[in-house]
Amino acid sequence: MNDERFIRRCFELARLGAGAVSPNPLVGAVLVHADRIIGEGWHQRWGEAHAEVRCIASVSPENQALIPYSTLYCNLEPCSHFGKTPPCCDLILRQKIRRVVVANMDPNPLVAGKGLDALRRAGVEVLDGILEAEGYWLNRAFFTWITQQRPYVVLKWAQSSDGFLGKTGERTPISGAETLRLVHRWRTHCDAILVGARTAELDNPRLDTRFFPGKNPLRVVFDTQGKIPASHHLLDDSIETWVFGKPVMKGDFRNTKFIPVEGSVEVPTLLEALKIANKAILLVEGGAHVLQQFVDSGHWDEIRVLENRQHLSNGIAAPKIPENAVLKQDFRCGADWVRIFAR
Ligand SMILES: [Zn+2]
Repeated sequence: MNDERFIRRCFELARLGAGAVSPNPLVGAVLVHADRIIGEGWHQRWGEAHAEVRCIASVSPENQALIPYSTLYCNLEPCSHFGKTPPCCDLILRQKIRRVVVANMDPNPLVAGKGLDALRRAGVEVLDGILEAEGYWLNRAFFTWITQQRPYVVLKWAQSSDGFLGKTGERTPISGAETLRLVHRWRTHCDAILVGARTAELDNPRLDTRFFPGKNPLRVVFDTQGKIPASHHLLDDSIETWVFGKPVMKGDFRNTKFIPVEGSVEVPTLLEALKIANKAILLVEGGAHVLQQFVDSGHWDEIRVLENRQHLSNGIAAPKIPENAVLKQDFRCGADWVRIFAR
């Protein structure tokens, strides 16, 4: 069906904004005249023009007369309120577009349906719910952020084929080069990355995105015992970093914030701090204790497991996949196997 085909194209375009629009949704828009695409656009950067605006602006001068006879496809309901930009519904009406097809309604209960209602009232033919489930999956972080008012939490770990994170007291086994790039891509799509003190101390990770183009997310580390050496990458002040712990290190820190904590850091406390800082997607990269803390307290939305071919026989056991987790995707990445679970 053509409506589905063009909504799929919206998803493809929307994905191009991943890592640059959060906590806004990923949105793509396509303008179609007689089964031919005459305009395309996507939301490229937080606070900048919406997909619909870019789509209509992309129509070439010789095709502009076709706009009122075209269908506008958009994976999310066009906005009807003044945000950082004027409402897209007004633009659609001004352009006299007669048919609009969308996948998902705006999840904000105060807005939901108002955009589509405004269009219908003005006589526009509106079709919604096309590939709704796929649209929800694409914008799962955004839907969680709006409806539950908290960051979307992704747990990620690499394990051996027999289910170990690594040998006790040693650096976690590294997955293949392709997988490393995949992880860095995931990082660029997140707003914050968390590791525990042991991982920070033992692995000395950079938690940056050097193997994939894109932004560096906020680095967050738990260090309540003050064990991370000052020479470690996480304390190099090169990237925005939060250190939850006891000591406030002396030094000329510009990007590093020390957050004093008594005892251990509770997950809800962290999520609240991230929410206030407008960080809508959290990637938890370990280690075992921190991952288990999120699994046990139920503070997770998605789990990504990278499995390599190594056989370790013993070591630190990987967390158990919770019973309510549903396998959403599995694929090969180089020599590794990737499985993605959600609720
Ligand atoms: Zn809009």
